[in-house]
Amino acid sequence: MENTLLIKNGIIITLGDNPKVLYKHSLLIENGLIKKIAPSVEFIDKYNKEIDASGKVVLPGFINAHMHFYSTFVRGLGKAKPASNFIGVLENLWWRLDKVLTLEDCYYSALIMLVNAVRRGTTTFIDHHASPKVIAGSLQQIAKAVKETGLRANLCYELSDRDGEEIAEEGLKENYDFIKYTQKNSDEFIKAMFGLHASFTLSDKTLEKASKLGKELNSGFHIHVAEAEPDEDYNVTHFGMRIVKRLDKFGILGNKTIAAHCVHIDENEMDLLKETGTIVVHNPQSNLNNAVGIADVVKIASKGILIGLGTDAMTVNMTEEIRVALWAQHLKQQNPSAGFMEIASTLFFNNAKIANRYWNVPLGKLEEGAAGDIVLVDYNAPTPLDESTYLGHLIFGISQSDVDTTIVNGRVLMENRILKIDIDEEEISGKAKELAEALWKRF
Ligand SMILES: [Zn+2]
Repeated sequence: MENTLLIKNGIIITLGDNPKVLYKHSLLIENGLIKKIAPSVEFIDKYNKEIDASGKVVLPGFINAHMHFYSTFVRGLGKAKPASNFIGVLENLWWRLDKVLTLEDCYYSALIMLVNAVRRGTTTFIDHHASPKVIAGSLQQIAKAVKETGLRANLCYELSDRDGEEIAEEGLKENYDFIKYTQKNSDEFIKAMFGLHASFTLSDKTLEKASKLGKELNSGFHIHVAEAEPDEDYNVTHFGMRIVKRLDKFGILGNKTIAAHCVHIDENEMDLLKETGTIVVHNPQSNLNNAVGIADVVKIASKGILIGLGTDAMTVNMTEEIRVALWAQHLKQQNPSAGFMEIASTLFFNNAKIANRYWNVPLGKLEEGAAGDIVLVDYNAPTPLDESTYLGHLIFGISQSDVDTTIVNGRVLMENRILKIDIDEEEISGKAKELAEALWKRF
């Protein structure tokens, strides 16, 4: 058989529409897709490769629905003046960092995060990029890093008027060119959306242009919405309406559009997101770190809005993010029992539904015909692990274990914690360190 990989002896947690916990089953990948999941005794052929998953759980690769690869070089950067509010965080740190990035920085920032993601079992990203001094070709640099690591990503450039008209024009063009490129190229590794920073940094004129191009391309938009209260205040003061209403006015909402954060949206805005099928992505670690508040995930989910989970670049570790999401929601609801299913669903079910609005191959679930994107995690369950308990195991136990093996499209990227991709971690960290040092001097 051509290009076959058999995973045997593991506990398979399928997730998906009909989640199962399967013992004594094996999973066969053929030509990048899951060909068959069945009792192990049924697999009697000779396969190209077999992986013994004894003592491990077998899961679909994790999906990160809101990310910024370009943030890598802030680690340890002490030069940013402490901010006392969210706008200060943008002005003192992010809007200074993005302006000193070179194309090479963009590439290495992404590469470091992506290799780390292979180690954490995160196999798909929806990223939001900014590098206002080097816009043209920046998304191709990130795409190059994604291809080299063998992962999947949906990329966009964050259009904004904050740096003037000329830079906004370049942002429009980079989104347009890159979306066109991915549509023409049409592979299942690199996808694209139309990136917008946030309503409060976009003029009517620029939004109008973005809306026209984005609709022509049918790519959906990826934008920060009501991350902090001043975003809403600015919109009410300057445009006479709340954020979601303004985005709707410009035709930005829709079932391929991601509204990241939504910490401060009101009930009317939720209804509008629901009516238009717009996706919300929750990023609790970032929100806690920036002291902006916690989105009401319970209420947003109760409206029937598709809400997923992102890390907003805090980490590439989705099981860490889901834990924080749960504790933060308990605090938000002032109730230690509230929101378990709503939060668990963001990562384990909804991120797959979100990804599947952009990818043709089904991601985020283990079933026949779905992508061969699989992670094996060391785990010996100390309590019964079955269909009634697996979500508790995922959040409270499996999340604390090491990812042993990461597979994307049937290709083994890491096995027994050893990288199988042609990248020397020490070498790229060394190069990144050199670039970061130079960037810190320019900062
Ligand atoms: Zn973000």
